[in-house]
Amino acid sequence: MKVPFKFKGVHECEAVVLACIDFRFWKETEEFIGQEMGIKTYDFPKLPGAAKAINDCLSEVDVAMKCIGVPCDLHHVKRIVIVNHTDCGAYGGSSQFNGDAEAEQKFHESELKKAKEKVLKEFPDREVVLIYAKLVDDGESVEFLRVE
Ligand SMILES: [Zn+2]
Repeated sequence: MKVPFKFKGVHECEAVVLACIDFRFWKETEEFIGQEMGIKTYDFPKLPGAAKAINDCLSEVDVAMKCIGVPCDLHHVKRIVIVNHTDCGAYGGSSQFNGDAEAEQKFHESELKKAKEKVLKEFPDREVVLIYAKLVDDGESVEFLRVE
């Protein structure tokens, strides 16, 4: 199979989007990044738990931090987007919260904020955007919420 390569001579992109590996969310995350955030070019590393992978890092040479560092250093990205989601297996899933969707959301928000702090320590001049992909409509829809 041979396909056209769209990026001949291009070595920079707009952002890095760190998401969870979960097959249920990443395609929808791409839709959100393109349609809602208007980001066309981005590195797209996926690690279990997204923010969890950053928060579990012991040093800047850990793989999760490299997933941010390589896009920053080599592709000169200006924005770092971290996406956590409802019912994330890396955190033990929704069952950890006994059906309390609000508690689950609050937990992920604090995890995302912790990751932001850690990332900003290494890359203080980048914009870090935090997103929570929330299951809504009785599990029929994914809503992407910006965490401030
Ligand atoms: Zn997950």
